[in-house]
Amino acid sequence: MSGKKTDDSNASDGSGAFVPRPCPICGKMSLARYRPFCSKRCADVDLQRWFTGSYAVPVVEEDRSAFSDDDDER
Ligand SMILES: [Zn+2]
Repeated sequence: MSGKKTDDSNASDGSGAFVPRPCPICGKMSLARYRPFCSKRCADVDLQRWFTGSYAVPVVEEDRSAFSDDDDER
């Protein structure tokens, strides 16, 4: 027996290589399908962070409901 390596033929099989890790977005266990995220939604969130991060524009939320110009004076 010489010239044939049967050892390396199994190296391409990646099943079982996936180790579940906490999703960087929400902390749930990630799925192999969406790794390193737990779901497509979390992957989208991360993607949006990348996009918004490139703009580096701080978003200030105005809550108009909290401030009303109508002073109820008696
Ligand atoms: Zn997640």
